[in-house]
Amino acid sequence: MIEGGLTEARMPRLAAAIASADAPAQVRVDCSRDEEGRYIAALNVSMQVAVTCQRCLTCLTIDLQANSLLAAVWTDEQAQALPTRYEPLITEGESDLWQMVEDELLLALPAFSYHDDSQCAVKAGMTASDKGVTNVNESLGQRKENPFGVLATLKAGGNRD
Ligand SMILES: [Zn+2]
Repeated sequence: MIEGGLTEARMPRLAAAIASADAPAQVRVDCSRDEEGRYIAALNVSMQVAVTCQRCLTCLTIDLQANSLLAAVWTDEQAQALPTRYEPLITEGESDLWQMVEDELLLALPAFSYHDDSQCAVKAGMTASDKGVTNVNESLGQRKENPFGVLATLKAGGNRD
């Protein structure tokens, strides 16, 4: 079993997609052979990153988690022939594994991130500044439409799961 940390500095594509990261990604790799003799690496990655809330544009912290089963292959043909439960890891060195870790983290990163309603600066700010008005609006049933409501719908519709 290999355990280690992979810093943001070694993952430029991830670094470009997030605001910051306080700690390196925790990477755990369990190596084994399957019944057909393949070299298998069970990859477990977790990382806490700060991203921008798309509603209030301040940072929020999210946890990224990824698990995958990699099978070492040496040719594209071997990669094509793998059972679907495996992802091919074309082995040319340790750096490929780190690339894979970065890929997994990028896949785990949501396209849009938002604070919980109770923690988002936009909602808190609105309540504080238009308190008098808010009550009137609410009693009339004319709550302002959230301009990002559309985005939320898109996100729900485009969910891969
Ligand atoms: Zn927010």
